[in-house]
Amino acid sequence: MNILIAEDEPVSRLRLQSTLQHWGYTVTTAVDGAEALQQIEKTDRPGIAILDWMMPHVDGLEVCQAIRATPASGYVYVILLTSLDREEDMVAGFDAGADDYITKPFRIHELRARIRTGVRIVELHQQLTAAAMHDPLTSLLNRRAFFEIFEKEVARARRQQSSLGLLMVDLDHFKEVNDQHGHPAGDAVLREAARRLRARVRATDIVGRYGGEEFVLALPGCGLKQAVAIGEHLRDCISAEPFDIPSGRLTMTTSVGVVTTWDMAEAGHLLKTADEALYRAKAGGRNRVVADLRTAA
Ligand code: GH3
Ligand code: MG
Ligand code: MG
Ligand code: MG
Repeated sequence: MNILIAEDEPVSRLRLQSTLQHWGYTVTTAVDGAEALQQIEKTDRPGIAILDWMMPHVDGLEVCQAIRATPASGYVYVILLTSLDREEDMVAGFDAGADDYITKPFRIHELRARIRTGVRIVELHQQLTAAAMHDPLTSLLNRRAFFEIFEKEVARARRQQSSLGLLMVDLDHFKEVNDQHGHPAGDAVLREAARRLRARVRATDIVGRYGGEEFVLALPGCGLKQAVAIGEHLRDCISAEPFDIPSGRLTMTTSVGVVTTWDMAEAGHLLKTADEALYRAKAGGRNRVVADLRTAA
């Protein structure tokens, strides 16, 4: 767990830093509120921030308010550190969004216990966030989480004028697996299909389970030609090897719809277009990749 210490008083800051490091925490420090804000804006946000209230320019209370105002990419547990111990100060600290409050001079074991509470809360928050974003059967992103990330990638592609491939992958005649071999067999096929798709693309590509036996992949930097080639690889990685199910082995195929970003297309429209291409792949006899040529980039 990475802990940020923001404290303008050098001796206190160093003492706190070495104590926390001695306890095994990774520590970053800030000498004032402005520097603390820079640390918070990094993608690798600290899980816990210990903020001195009284700091020049931007004080701890303002840092705390800024943390709460930024859309969270992870919860930051804030402990305010202060010599202000009047009741109204304490209330103002909590109103600003602090999770905890320690008055100086503080007792070191009390601080340690409070940090442990913070770690517990942050870890719980991380677990809940992960559970809310992922599909429990395949561990891929669920539809909502995929769409949120995909929307950001579409905006980024537009800003940077780069291409973004979108693939919709649907297992062919999957219902027959359930009907003939039972739901557990269907589940095993879905898990293995998800594993193969995830393994076949780059770590930076975004893979989600869109619905029952439908998967979506967003490929940043991919134009149509490249996206179609990857679509063919994915089709191949499903059909090349049979799937193990409790009663034996099954050969599966997939149909794939491919689009790339164009002009001002919105995320929702791109998904709809990929779905239409997928529909044409189904209608054309399945086990094939169909691209939307309007989106050629
Ligand atoms: P097509 O080739 O046209 O795509 O046919 P299909 O049978 O694959 O598609 P259809 O939409 O008819 O059936 C999808 C099936 O997927 C129906 C549904 O019961 C099953 N399904 C959806 N979610 C799950 C799941 O989590 N586990 C299992 N075992 N089956 C699921
Ligand atoms: Mg101070
Ligand atoms: Mg299907
Ligand atoms: Mg389907």
